[in-house]
Amino acid sequence: MLVSQDVDTALAALLGLLIGSFLNVVIYRLPAMMLRGWLEESVGNLMAAESGPSLWRQVLGPKGPAIPSTLERGASDAAMRLDALPPLTLSRPASRCGHCGHGIRWYENIPVVSYVALRGRCSSCRASISPRYPAVEIVTSAFFALCAWRYGFTLTGALWAAFAALLICQFLIDLDTQLLPDSLNYALLWMGLGAAALGLTGIALSSAVWGAVFGYLSLWLVYHAYRLATGKEGMGYGDFKLLAALGAWLGADYLIGIVLVSSLVGAVLGLALLAAGRLANKNIPMSFGPFLAGAGLVCLAIGPAEVKRLVPFAFPFAPG
Ligand SMILES: [Zn+2]
Repeated sequence: MLVSQDVDTALAALLGLLIGSFLNVVIYRLPAMMLRGWLEESVGNLMAAESGPSLWRQVLGPKGPAIPSTLERGASDAAMRLDALPPLTLSRPASRCGHCGHGIRWYENIPVVSYVALRGRCSSCRASISPRYPAVEIVTSAFFALCAWRYGFTLTGALWAAFAALLICQFLIDLDTQLLPDSLNYALLWMGLGAAALGLTGIALSSAVWGAVFGYLSLWLVYHAYRLATGKEGMGYGDFKLLAALGAWLGADYLIGIVLVSSLVGAVLGLALLAAGRLANKNIPMSFGPFLAGAGLVCLAIGPAEVKRLVPFAFPFAPG
């Protein structure tokens, strides 16, 4: 007999497929939108540096270098080209085949179903579609179902589902581009703190706040110690913010556990990429973000309380 928990879980799984389809768009477009924004900003700054207000002359100094006119002409040319580009947002332009530009119709965009029906190929040019699209949809669906099954159709369940969705994005965006968008990191951080303040994540607000503070500080210290010792930069500020966000969700006593689980994720991911031949070029830096995001997802999948039971030595400061 179907009980309401089963119905909730099935509905959440369905919703997860749809959200997963949207996450695919975020994963592919958000980095491109960010890079375009940075490019527009740099070009604007270059132009302002030459003809702009006196503040710019202060930066360059009274006898400082002038921006070469070729660079300025290049910047204004680039600005015109950027202005002429079609808008790029999460909703525009509509999804197209990356290979032939074929506009994807609604019935070709049904999560998982369309991929199977099209046998993983574009209906127009037959170019293969990455199996990552349905994989993201299935993983998102599984996490949504898990949240509904564990927490029911509650605000707490919805929050943990959002936690999973944001981490899936960070995991793949960092894997693809070595970027961890602030917009997603801050959404995670503020949601985690807000949820703790409302008592929705089951951890004390003070533990969430200290989790965020120590999460950020610990990696910040590692980063600067590594930089002083080797002159190289081992990770980025995005990693500090992501660990801060995880600390806000799981609590300060979880930080050692997260770092432990993230090294496990790193080992598994490294082996998987090695097996897939993706690590052939050792010069491509492997970032820390996917390990952290993966650790957050593993903790949610196992259950935060269960992780404490499995690796008690990672919680030396746990009360009780
Ligand atoms: Zn095509």
